[in-house]
Amino acid sequence: MKLLLKGGTVVDPGGGQSGPADVLIENGVISDVLSPGAGPKDADVIDVSKMTIIPGVIDIHTHLREPGFEYKETVASGTRAAAAGGVTSVACMANTDPVNDNGQITEYILEKAETTGVVRVYPVGAVSRGLSGEVLAEIGELAAAGVCALSDDGHVISNSDLMRRGMEYAVTFDLPVISHSEDMSLVADGVMNEGFVSTELGLPANPPQAEEIMIFRDVTLAQLTGARLHVAHISTAGGVEVIRRAKERGVAVTAETCPHYFTLTDDAVRTFDTNTKVNPPLRSEEDRRAVIEGLKDGTIDVIASDHAPHDIVEKAVEFSYAASGISGLETLLSLSLQLVRDGEMTLFDVVEKLTIAPARTLGLAGGTLATGVPADLTIVDTGEDWTVDPRAFFSKGKNSPFAGRSVPGRVKMTIVAGSIVYREGAIV
Ligand SMILES: [Zn+2]
Repeated sequence: MKLLLKGGTVVDPGGGQSGPADVLIENGVISDVLSPGAGPKDADVIDVSKMTIIPGVIDIHTHLREPGFEYKETVASGTRAAAAGGVTSVACMANTDPVNDNGQITEYILEKAETTGVVRVYPVGAVSRGLSGEVLAEIGELAAAGVCALSDDGHVISNSDLMRRGMEYAVTFDLPVISHSEDMSLVADGVMNEGFVSTELGLPANPPQAEEIMIFRDVTLAQLTGARLHVAHISTAGGVEVIRRAKERGVAVTAETCPHYFTLTDDAVRTFDTNTKVNPPLRSEEDRRAVIEGLKDGTIDVIASDHAPHDIVEKAVEFSYAASGISGLETLLSLSLQLVRDGEMTLFDVVEKLTIAPARTLGLAGGTLATGVPADLTIVDTGEDWTVDPRAFFSKGKNSPFAGRSVPGRVKMTIVAGSIVYREGAIV
């Protein structure tokens, strides 16, 4: 079967191309990117005039909540949220119940993805058993079952020796280690960023140095062990600077940030809207600017969602007691495109951080429209704005601080392995 996407503009940083082109898909793979009008006559044609065709977005930081927290999200609902957001691959974190710290759970998640999912799912295995930070997980087993990386995300590995051993195992199995970087002794009972706003609100807070210190430790351990370190959700100026210097020294480190860290500051917490509670917390304007600069100069490689869906009851409580996290899959692309709208970055550079960069970071398939790769792509109208309405999310998690915000970039179609999985507001 031949499918021709005709009349659009291709933006494919992985393949180094950008401009008007038609995309031909045959048997689930990209068979050619052609000059406009040069496609074969016998193909089924989809008119994508005025649309932008990008490789499917790869979100390397999501929480799908299954097994164990199906009331928050399932593989089925989470992958539908992904498709609606133009995301064709997700890496899902290990803080499920049971924790994904052994091969059986990895296989369970992969089977769920196979039977109920609509986009590609890449499980991340735990570094420590039960995310306890005390004993290593069954890393060999996890590797054999097919995890794409190791991380205790959601929890922090405070014990430096355990992190070292985890990294050594990761090297053996050629897996990257993803660090949730917070010094828990400094975080203490903080529920927001420590600064002017927390002082005014009188909320317990944690300083940006909690992140910076832990990133420095993990970069140092990566140097010691030779592990590939990926630092999750960078939120601070100090964190960006540590990564920048580590890269200059040639340490194998990559980093990500999330839309909320370049879109919002701790000023948003003044509303006491618990949807502004995230971990690490929203930081100062200076930090927000530093994160954007880090994206611009390549210190931060990837934009990921840290999709953390919660049930309403976990957010409809006092700020201090609320669960942390944002349901982010469906706003990831549009909030990133706002950087283009604001003149901070080019479309080409933003798409790179959502496609080929995450693919390279975790060694995943896709991320480009090169001939012969699986036809995962997203068709977006970058000129069409829409208003975020969490009630309309495909995710079970309606926890978004962006409700009511007008954002650019309406996803028109999401294609996985040559099949349309999302089109104009509906899962196909
Ligand atoms: Zn995390």
